[in-house]
Amino acid sequence: MQITVPTLSSLQLDGLACVGCGADDTEQQPTGDRSPSGAQLFRCTDADVCRAQRSVNAQFPRLAALRAESAPATAWRSLSLGDVSTIPVAELLKTLGVRVVEVDGELSDDGAAGALSGRVGEATIRIERSLPQADRERVVRALLARISPAAQQYTVKADRPVRMVPARVDGHTVLIDCPAWCTFDHVAEDALFLDDVYHSTDTVTLMAPRVGAEDAPLVNARLNADTFGSDEATRRPLLIIAHEDEALYMTPEQAGVFADGLVAFAESVRALAAQAGGVR
Ligand SMILES: [Zn+2]
Ligand SMILES: [Zn+2]
Repeated sequence: MQITVPTLSSLQLDGLACVGCGADDTEQQPTGDRSPSGAQLFRCTDADVCRAQRSVNAQFPRLAALRAESAPATAWRSLSLGDVSTIPVAELLKTLGVRVVEVDGELSDDGAAGALSGRVGEATIRIERSLPQADRERVVRALLARISPAAQQYTVKADRPVRMVPARVDGHTVLIDCPAWCTFDHVAEDALFLDDVYHSTDTVTLMAPRVGAEDAPLVNARLNADTFGSDEATRRPLLIIAHEDEALYMTPEQAGVFADGLVAFAESVRALAAQAGGVR
């Protein structure tokens, strides 16, 4: 029996991919039908596997279409960095033709958590077996964000917390490196230029009670890094201690000295209050 189904891809019509889901890497058996060219058509042996793949296809139609064309380089070209940060990792790996292998110690000796070698369509990512499960996805995504059709070899460092997050810049979503301590919502705030994107923790504020008035904010502190800024000095993580309209930038070492000073100051305040007879 001959069938002509125009929606089948060339891979499916050549019997190289499942006619149900388009997968070319599942266990398959002949359907009994032939394409107009005479090739046997195949379908996943396991109906559950086929159904699961179809549901992924439905969720990511563009990905399914790209895979049907079987050109990782085409898929790579049309993937945005936002896609790389949101599409399930397993799907990205399959689409870009990348396999992941675990290694023991060969990367950590160089301070790396993961390494990619190869090009779109034929690349291998090595990750340390000791890398916590929670870190694996972001290491793999960080590596995939740099893959290209040209053969390359590069690593992602272990000592630097790697986190690729989407950020809005001038109306576009890009993927940026964001330190693990950053709680800033880079998507909610649309920066005009990449230079304007900065990392920040939440602000902690010291409130001061007053006689006959509400508590007043006295001073606040947060951690900040203008990673993409033009000022070299403020690209590294610095503490910003802000009082009214003055912001003081401190290195972590200076902030430690400042914290010791605050403790001494607090003891002095407590002693003064004790002299007034009010505090234990
Ligand atoms: Zn299938
Ligand atoms: Zn950030």
